[in-house]
Amino acid sequence: MGTYAVVTVAEGNRAGLETVYGIARSEAGRVEALLNPFAEDNELARLNAGAGATWVSVSGDTLAVLGESLRYAEASGGAFDPTVGPLVRLWGIHLSEPPPKVPDAERIAEALRQTGYRHIRLREGEAFLAQPGMRVDPGGIAKGYAVDLCYERMLRSGARNFMVNIGGNLRVHGLPRPGKTGRNRAAPRPWTVGVRNPFVPGGIVGTFRLDTGMAVATSGHYERFVHIEGRRFAHILDPRTGIPVEGMAGVTVASTNATQCDALSTALFVLGVEEALPALEAVDGSRALLIPDRQPLELHLSPGLEDIFEPLPEFADAVRHLAPGRGRQRSPAHF
Ligand code: ADP
Ligand code: MG
Repeated sequence: MGTYAVVTVAEGNRAGLETVYGIARSEAGRVEALLNPFAEDNELARLNAGAGATWVSVSGDTLAVLGESLRYAEASGGAFDPTVGPLVRLWGIHLSEPPPKVPDAERIAEALRQTGYRHIRLREGEAFLAQPGMRVDPGGIAKGYAVDLCYERMLRSGARNFMVNIGGNLRVHGLPRPGKTGRNRAAPRPWTVGVRNPFVPGGIVGTFRLDTGMAVATSGHYERFVHIEGRRFAHILDPRTGIPVEGMAGVTVASTNATQCDALSTALFVLGVEEALPALEAVDGSRALLIPDRQPLELHLSPGLEDIFEPLPEFADAVRHLAPGRGRQRSPAHF
């Protein structure tokens, strides 16, 4: 998946570090083996090779990733689209050498004709890409899916009080220091994660407090990008135009499902501040922080996010609330 993975486990677990490490390796490794877009002969390669021609038998995991992808594609009106493969290729997004020139309108139109989640067909144990030239790119969802697999298997193995993090897609269980609970009647400290400041390397804009089972994912313009003809392009494409998204710096989504967080963070990066709310509402229980790519810094919070996100004091005035039709903005003095 072209990224790192970290598992953090609190002291005193019945399931030892070795067990938890083994689970993370095997679950993440399995997803990687099935869906790595560079492999020549895995399920993803066979699925893409059969585009426009043939049904391909796929494992339960691949089927689940495709099924979940379709769900978030629908919920986001196609802003999340797992069939962006031809566009990703055209813009050189996963290549070590970017294309020498910005793709012209004709080639973008051609890649767009080979894009469209509605052409994915699924049935028991099999999948089919109904248009020739289609390519599934699971890069916007596979890491979150792998996090959920790791999380669930760790729980089943008896692990408690841990955090799984695959490239910034993470999910927590319990508490970071469960042993410290109640000694001086202080409330137990929850897992907290900082949200990076997209404009300041090493800086953060605030922190999420995560109850057990919660997941968080971030899509940022600072993580991966391509330089073409001296211009910098984001690694997330708008499937409606075929062009890399401009205007967003970072989107962080929290919910009780890492797959959902991963897909939605990518979707909301495409949709931006104006269109994010309907997509969030189409999916139960997700909350988001959106940071547009402009100065001064703005932190746009979806309804209820203030319960789990606390901006740094210096960014309290940067807080805005995503609430179309509400007219009045709640006071940041709340924080
Ligand atoms: P990261 O992979 O850096 O964690 P994301 O989760 O936002 O970031 O996923 C971005 C990846 O998803 C891209 O590298 C590409 O493979 C794929 N992708 C790009 N645009 C879209 C899109 N509109 N819908 C679904 N996947 C996308
Ligand atoms: Mg994502």
